[in-house]
Parts: sequence; C-alpha cells; structure tokens
Amino acid sequence: LAEKIQSTIEKLGRKGKIDKETLEKGLREIKLALLEADVNYKVVAKFINDIKEKALGADVTKGVTAAQQLVKIVYDELVQALGGEEAKLNLKNKPAVILLIGLQGSGKTTTAAKLAKYLKKQGKKVLLTSADVYRPAAMLQLKKLGDQIGVPVFLEENEKDAVKIAKDALNKAKSEDYDVLIIDTAGRLHIDEELLEEARKIKEATNPDETLFVIDSMTGQESVNIAKAFDEAVGMTGIILTKMDSDARGGVALSVKGVTGKPIKFAGVGEKIDDFQPFYPDRVASRILGMGDVVTLVEKAQEVIDEKEALSMQEKLLSGEFTLEDFRKQLKMIQKLGPLHQIMRMIPGLGSQKILKQLEQAIDDKKLKRIEAIIDSMTPEERRNHAIINASRKRRIARGSGTSVKEVDALLKQFVQAKMAMKQMRKMQKKMAKKGGGG
Ligand code: GDP
Ligand code: MG
Repeated sequence: LAEKIQSTIEKLGRKGKIDKETLEKGLREIKLALLEADVNYKVVAKFINDIKEKALGADVTKGVTAAQQLVKIVYDELVQALGGEEAKLNLKNKPAVILLIGLQGSGKTTTAAKLAKYLKKQGKKVLLTSADVYRPAAMLQLKKLGDQIGVPVFLEENEKDAVKIAKDALNKAKSEDYDVLIIDTAGRLHIDEELLEEARKIKEATNPDETLFVIDSMTGQESVNIAKAFDEAVGMTGIILTKMDSDARGGVALSVKGVTGKPIKFAGVGEKIDDFQPFYPDRVASRILGMGDVVTLVEKAQEVIDEKEALSMQEKLLSGEFTLEDFRKQLKMIQKLGPLHQIMRMIPGLGSQKILKQLEQAIDDKKLKRIEAIIDSMTPEERRNHAIINASRKRRIARGSGTSVKEVDALLKQFVQAKMAMKQMRKMQKKMAKKGGGG
C-alpha cells in the first residue's frame, strides 16, 4: 500500500497548495490505510471528515509534493487523536489503587506484573492482588509473576467473593504502608453483564486512582464495542494496549481512544515482563499510517529547506546559472538533513536519477566537509565564476583548505559535470514540453 501511495504521490507532482483533486485522491488512500490498520470504520469516517476541512488549501512546503504534505497533515492529526503527548499515570492516594479491567486473554495478569515492575523501578512499594475467583490458575499465574519480580502478591485462594479480596488487599496495603496496590480482575471471552457488574463493585469498594482498560491490539473492529461497554458499565481513566509486538498495525488504539476519549497510557510489546513501555502517540501514528518515511521527509524538508532559497536554487539549477556559491549553500542544506543517500532526492531540482547518481558518486558524507573547506577558501569572485581558477589560484585554495590541488581539481570537474547534466535535463524538459508530454 505504501508503494501505491508513493506512486500516487509522484503522479500528482508538485503544487503550491493542497487542491481538491489531491485531497480527494490522497484521502481515499489514507482511508484505506487506516481501515487496513484495523481502525473502526466509523472512527475512520469521522477522522477523514475532520481532516478534509483542515487540509484543503493548506500550504505545501517546498521540496515535497502536495500529496506528501497531506500525509504529514494526516499524521499530525493522528498523533493528536491518539493523545498528542505521552500520558502519565495519575496516582494521588496512598496507597494508590490501580484496577485492571478487560476481556479474558487481553493481557491483564501479565500487565499487572509489568506495571508492578515498572513502578517498583521508580522506587515504589507495590502490592499485587488477584480478584479472579473463577480460575484458580489465574491466581497462581500472578503469584508466579510476582515472585519473578520480587513483588508480594496478596491472595485468598478459597475466597469466592472478588470484592472481598480487593477490600482485604487494600486494607493490607494501608496497614503495611504500600505506595501502590494493583488489582488484577477476571475476564470473560465476551462482554458479560455479571462480570461488568463485579468489576464495578470492586471499583466502588476500592476507589481506584486509575481504572485501566486492557485491550489486545489484535482485537480488530470489535474493539469499539468492547471499550464502550467497559467504559459505560465500569468507567475507566485510561487504556493499556497489549501485544503491540504483533503484526497488528495499532488501529485499535485510534478506535478505542476515539470512542472513549480516554488516554492510552502504556503499551505491551511482548510476553516478557520488561516488554512494556509508555504509549508513544507519534510512533503509533506512524505505524498506523504506514507512511513513516513520507512523514520524516516532510518534517525534514520543513525544518531545513528555506522556502525562498529553495525556489531560487531550483531556478538557478534549471537555468544553468548555478555557481560554486550555490553549490556550497546546497551542501550546507544537505549536511543538515542527514545521511546523503536518503535525502538526495529531497533537494528541489535534483529529481533526476542521472544527476542524483552523479552527485552521490561525487560527494559522500565524509567528503562533504573537505568540499566545503575548499569552497570556503575561494574568493567570492572565484565562487561566482569558476572559470577564472587557474593553477596558482588552485594552489592557494588547496593550501587554505588543507587539501591538495588534486582535490581542488576533482571538485571543479565534478561541479562542471553536474552543471552539464543539469543543462541536459533542462533541454530534455523543453523538448518534452514542446511535445506536450509529461514533466
Ligand atoms: P488476561 O486473561 O487478561 O489476564 O491475559 P494474560 O495476562 O493471561 O495474557 C494472555 C496471553 O497474552 C498470555 O499468553 C500472555 O503471555 C500474552 N500477552 C500479554 N501481553 C502481551 C504482549 O504485550 N505481547 C505478547 N506477545 N503477548 C502478550
Ligand atoms: Mg488473567
């Protein structure tokens, strides 16, 4: 799909503003990308609608296409829709109570242990408890995990009242000066009134600082209904998305956040206890969209390319007035951008494969600094008109830049070649324009 989008993007060419056609075409692709990432279709529809108004007529950064710009706008909106910033835990009471709710198999018990270790690392005294009274194995599972990370687990193995266990655990946490109590609960495979009721009672009895809804990122379209049911019946203060290490692109994040409005606080990224991290909206947005490269490209272009400078550079390139002075400016831009091979194609006017190849051969990252030094050692006059650089000038330039005459010669040769290649490209463009073909 990313390739499909890339090709659409290339066809659309470079425009100053995002026009209607680009918008319609682009949004169609983006809609598909979101659906493919398993974002709920209703959430997609709303999201696309919101974008439409913002994107039409938006300015396009020089050096990127309108369609690329659109992807960046969508990405920014996606980051916002996913919560913008990283969301922190909100623990006020002592002991603070964290209640975990969600379907069976969503990863609650594993997450309880992950969270316990995470908080323990921050120097907190943590107590775990299991209110899963339906499956004895569930309590043992938590006990085992607790032992692994050195966090005590409060259990009442024969107790059938989940609310009572939660209350007893809270009393223990209070009397033994714990900072945090994490309550793991039972889940069913499907939404179940009785179970929601039980979770609500536990919540009432323990007044949690955080009620975190745990959901498997592979849940798909259903995630919206599940999240809604838990939010309405029990209420939640945040979300934890598990199994982000799976193939799922993370569309569930947008669905669940979209329908509950609650922040996503953590992501489970594997079965091991340490496979746990804060939820990063930007990373997940990029994954959902599947167009991270385009986003990076636009961001870099926005950061680095001075709009006016880029435009005049492009004109100079095509008119053949390109001087060593311009060459140096461009080198400076290039250095700011990062690894050469990745960014060459971003420089306006360097779209042609032939020129790209030549430049790539001519300058690698290590050589850049030396080339800059050589040009720096030239007089302004020499930079404007390379033809006046004779043998004695070359010797002076080499001395001044700490390089050799050979290197100065090589640079001048490459510069002349690049200039010629650009001239050829200009001729080709003119020919094509006459024929009325592409460009
Ligand atoms: P619960 O029924 O909600 O308590 O779910 P569990 O904690 O027992 O987890 C169910 C299964 O999912 C277990 O096999 C876990 O190892 C696995 N699991 C939980 N979180 C993750 C995760 O982030 N990544 C992966 N790959 N597996 C996970
Ligand atoms: Mg469990």
